[in-house]
Amino acid sequence: MARISFSEGVDLFNHAPLEELQQRAVEIRNAKNPPNRVTFVLDSNPNYTNVCNADCTFCAFYRHPGAKDAYEKSVDQVMEHLAFARRAGLTTVLLQGGLNDNLKLDYYVEVVRRAVHDYPDIYPHFFTAPEIWNCAKVSNKTIREVLQALWDAGQRTIPGGGAEILSERVRSTISPKKMAPDAWIDIHHTAHDIGFRTTATMMYGHVEEPEDIVTHLETLRQAQDVIPGFTAFIPWSYKRHRTALRRTVKNWAGTDAFFRILAFSRIYLDNFDHVQASWFGEGKETGIQALHYGADDFGGTVVEENVHRATGHICKTDHQGMLDMIRAAGYEPAQRNPLYDILKTYEGVDTVYVPPEGRVKEEDKLPIFEDCCQK
Ligand code: SF4
Repeated sequence: MARISFSEGVDLFNHAPLEELQQRAVEIRNAKNPPNRVTFVLDSNPNYTNVCNADCTFCAFYRHPGAKDAYEKSVDQVMEHLAFARRAGLTTVLLQGGLNDNLKLDYYVEVVRRAVHDYPDIYPHFFTAPEIWNCAKVSNKTIREVLQALWDAGQRTIPGGGAEILSERVRSTISPKKMAPDAWIDIHHTAHDIGFRTTATMMYGHVEEPEDIVTHLETLRQAQDVIPGFTAFIPWSYKRHRTALRRTVKNWAGTDAFFRILAFSRIYLDNFDHVQASWFGEGKETGIQALHYGADDFGGTVVEENVHRATGHICKTDHQGMLDMIRAAGYEPAQRNPLYDILKTYEGVDTVYVPPEGRVKEEDKLPIFEDCCQK
């Protein structure tokens, strides 16, 4: 299938019927990935600090230094989250935090070093591009020096958060203190050059125009052409409650917008292997339906999560819940790691989660989460 140009993309995104986008996206998804399979990861998303200097207007998570509920965790305290992940039978921890000027490179390296040494069974998927950018700035290091130090400590993948929409017009409106879109790309480029694999995200549904969304995808596609290294594209909608931006955003993105963006991104990002439709970001029912719009991955269990929670968006599941949702969509689940290596398949298996003998005490098992999503 021939690559579609930017102008063709804008036209397609604006005018194509959703059913047409869906059909094309599913064809591409099935050509790139096993048609019957949807992958997921057993993970948790704890935070090491909520102190941040960026004041993004879409964010309800951050606190200024000195705020009564501001926190900055020691390396030992961060390790407690990995211990929890181990006890819960998870394979991956996505660790992220605010842009905290008090934390220098030695802190980040020690977190990675301790995690890799003490928890070799937990995959460290740590620190988004803005955190790496701020770490370099406050540590008087280059981006490459920071990334190389994390690599040398044992980290191999980086989550793709902090991109929002890669458009200077959007950034200057919703997060003017944050690094420019070029810097986000440069960090991922440098990471790919060192050997990291990363994801790419997009937060839509605020001040962007359709052209900004196509610009975002075009920027990612070009970057992937130059130095491949993105594993997956992951879109989610802006969650407005308790954020400053909610006062100026008038039109909220709904379910159809999510399906359109998923299907269109699957068509446009012809050099990406995976597109994720997370059950978490848009809720379980929408997530299940979204698997029929070109996505081949369902994201993680996200056992601990505080960023969306700060906006009042709370959505929970567990291992069995992931299997049930993927099966409800008509697919076979397969468990993966952040490199998208398959760790386990479940053909013919109904009840699958048996914690390793002697590793999980009864009181340490995951709580039974309520089966609901709140927005
Ligand atoms: S989105 Fe990230 S960088 Fe922006 S204010 Fe929130 S924690 Fe800080």
